Order: sequence, then C-alpha cells, then structure tokens
Amino acid sequence: MFDKYEDECGVFGIYGHPEAANMTYLGLYALQHRGQESCGISAADGMRLRTHLGSGLVADVFKDDEIFNKLSGDASIGHVRYSTAGGDNIRNCQPIAVDYARGSVAVAHNGNLVNAREVRNALEEKGSIFSTTADTEVIIHLLARSQSDSLGDRISEALRQVRGAYSLVFLTETRMVAARDPHGFRPLVLGEVDGAYVVASETCALDLIEARFIREIEPGEMVIFDKNGMTSYHPFEERTPSPCIFEFVYFARPDSTIFGQQVYQMRKGFGHQLAREHQVEADIVIPVPDSGVPAAIGYAEEAGIPFEMALIRNHYVGRTFIEPQQSIRHFGVKIKLNAIREVLQGKRVVVIDDSIVRGTTSRKIIKMIRNAGAKEVHMRVSSPPTAYPCFYGIDTPTRKELIASSHTIDEIRKYVTADTLGYLSLEGMLEIAGAPKGAKGHFCEACFSGNYPVKFPRLKSDDQLGLF
Ligand code: AMP
Repeated sequence: MFDKYEDECGVFGIYGHPEAANMTYLGLYALQHRGQESCGISAADGMRLRTHLGSGLVADVFKDDEIFNKLSGDASIGHVRYSTAGGDNIRNCQPIAVDYARGSVAVAHNGNLVNAREVRNALEEKGSIFSTTADTEVIIHLLARSQSDSLGDRISEALRQVRGAYSLVFLTETRMVAARDPHGFRPLVLGEVDGAYVVASETCALDLIEARFIREIEPGEMVIFDKNGMTSYHPFEERTPSPCIFEFVYFARPDSTIFGQQVYQMRKGFGHQLAREHQVEADIVIPVPDSGVPAAIGYAEEAGIPFEMALIRNHYVGRTFIEPQQSIRHFGVKIKLNAIREVLQGKRVVVIDDSIVRGTTSRKIIKMIRNAGAKEVHMRVSSPPTAYPCFYGIDTPTRKELIASSHTIDEIRKYVTADTLGYLSLEGMLEIAGAPKGAKGHFCEACFSGNYPVKFPRLKSDDQLGLF
C-alpha cells in the first residue's frame, strides 16, 4: 500500500549548535500541531549520523535523557508527522536515515510529491527495494543513485525528478541542506541562534528557542550549511510561487509568520471580511476553539456583536480530525468540547469555524449549542467551501467525503442543522490575503477552486479511491 499523502508534517533543522538535538526537540515541540502521529530526530557529530524515532508525541518519544546522550553533535534535524494512510507504522517515521555508497544521509519532509508513485515504480523496475510507504523515500533513492560527486548536485538532481510540494531538510555527517519546491507550497523559514543556523516549518519554532528570524527559504531555493557557513542555490526551473492558503486558514499556528504574513492577523482579517459578507442579527459570536478563535474575534469586532467563549476545549485531547477512524472522530467532538449553558441560554448565536470538511464536527457542535439552550444558531465559516482534495500536503479526505463537493450551501446548512450558513468568498479571502483582486495565481487555493498549480498523473486506483 502506497501512502495517499505524505502530509501535515513539521520539519526543523539546526547547524552549528553544541546542543543541536536538544534545540531540535524544542523546535519539534513548537511544531507539534503539524503532526502528532510520530516524530524523530537525527543528529550528526562530523563522523556519524544517529537517529531516534517513535510513534506518538514529541514529549513521549523523547522522554529519556539517555536518548539525547546518543544524539550528540552540533547539527540535527527533526520531524513531526501525521499521515492518513500507512497507519502508525514505525517504518514511516521520519527523518528517514540511510547509509549509502557515499556515507549517511537523513531527510525530513513536509509536503506531498505528485509523481512519487511513478518514480517509485520506475525505480522498483530497476531493482530498488523500498522499506517505507512514504514518498519521501523516493528522494533518498534518487539521491543515492546519482553519480555526482557533490552533495548539492546529488540532491538537486534528485529533486529535479520529483514534482509537487516539498519543504525538506537533509542531514549528513557534516552538512545540512534545506530545500523548498519551486512553487513554495509549504512554508520553511530560516533563523539564527547563538551563531547557529536554524530552519523550521514555522516561526513559532524559532521563537521558542529564541532564534532570530532571518528570512524564508525561497520557493525553488536550496541552501547548504557547512563549516564555512551557508550557501544558497536556485537549481530548479522557475515557477510562479503558489504558497498554500490553507496554512493561513487552519494549519499554521496563529503566532507564526509564514509567507511573509502573520497568521493570527490574517485569520482575524478573514473574520472581518466574513462579517462584511454575511451579516446577521445576533446576541453573541462564539468560536469553535481553537481553530475558529481569531476569525471569531475579527467577526465580532466588525459586526459589533459581543464575543464569548461558550465552547470550552479540553486541551488534553488531540485535534479531532487527526483521529484516523471515523468512529473515534465522532466520539472525539464530545471529549474535546463542552458548551456553557449559562452563556448560550436563550441567545441568538453566531458560531464561527475555519472550515467545514465532512460536516460531522459542525453538526455535533450545533447540536451541542442548541442543547445548551441557544435560540438560533448561525454558522459562519472563515474560508470558502472545501470542495477539492489537496495533493500538496494538507490532509483532506477524498472528494466523496468532502461535503461541499457534492452539496449546495443550503444542503450543507440543513445537514449541520444551522439556521443560516455563510462561507467566506474566495474573492474576499484572496483580497484579505493580499493577492491582487481577480488574480488567483498568488496563493494555492486548489482546495476551494480546483485550480491545481501542479498537475498530477491520474491513476486508475485514484478513481477507485474516489479522489476525483
Ligand atoms: P469536519 O467534521 O470534517 O467538517 O471537520 C471540520 C473541522 O476540522 C474544523 O473544525 C476544522 O478546524 C478542522 N480541520 C479542517 N481541515 C483540517 C485538516 N486538514 N486537518 C485537521 N483538521 C482540519
């Protein structure tokens, strides 16, 4: 079974720091929201590369000091992972570390390659044996097969053969390499702490280790860190950048700045715009915590309706959507959220969430709000209808499961049992996001529009899976 997605991951790397593995541990802690299924750290001491991996949260996998004694050296990379397919198979944990003819290399990947299956089939025909179901392993094979003498050339040669989304960090015994695909789908930032270079999926990881933000790794850029410092290359064919707007909608942490913009402020702006587009007479505005909070603050501010926290989240439960099984997710809403009757009783309520995926969460939440005495429930969503699956690294279900792909807004309203339902328009979202009006090329918004910036081979099995 080949992974449908290699998605929802966080990557981190640090070069030239005496406590590299410890710093990576902290960095992964800050990136935990990007994946909770497994995590891992590789460290290099100039001679050897060592890796520790496991299923579960960073705090659980790295709870023994002894692990850090093993992970010695002044360079280290790390990864947090969540993926829909492949289960919690330990072999799919990252960084993937291998020994090959020219030494050792480890790689941590965020994103999804759209031609991984094709490349993998071709490699298998030539005799390659794969040990994981992750498409990242394809990159390792291509790199190992390269005849080039330079590491940078081997990596760029490998990456020129794959298409799709990748924010990558590689580690060898003596060097670290960061690379971002030419479209720049997933974020990757560069920082500095105590004279050491840091790369991370989001700036919140830099903040935790008190690293100074330098700049983003640019779309199509590859940066090699070695004892002489940092060298930047642009080895790939140039493309129009199309960073993922869903990072702003849901995925990134609100305290991060990615793609040059602050996530909390962007979400609040979506809320302002949503209020302008979908006004309603109401007594209170409440968010679905945590994902709906900044947009609800924005909505309440713009609409002049009081903001209340009427749903309280149990923070010791993971994100409901992350639970792989439908049965667990259903159960999860109740474990995760509880309504405050005293706030909701007799009220006309506007409830804000960032997105509706399958609709099951919203339906349960609205039921919960009504059971707590609300008189009216008006649902507002701070993004357009999610009607198309993501092939570039966000875990969205197949088209069949996306309620907006086969239902009108009024049908969705009926399903979630709201009195009214309003989504942010794509134009409104892009206006707030800073894209020039009418020019949708800047951000990737394929999950809303179906305009996929990188084409992918359409395989028979995908149709069977209901991907299209
Ligand atoms: P659903 O019940 O499928 O409609 O789930 C909607 C909820 O899932 C919303 O509260 C979103 O914040 C959240 N969500 C949206 N996209 C994702 C994603 N890719 N991964 C995890 N959660 C998500």
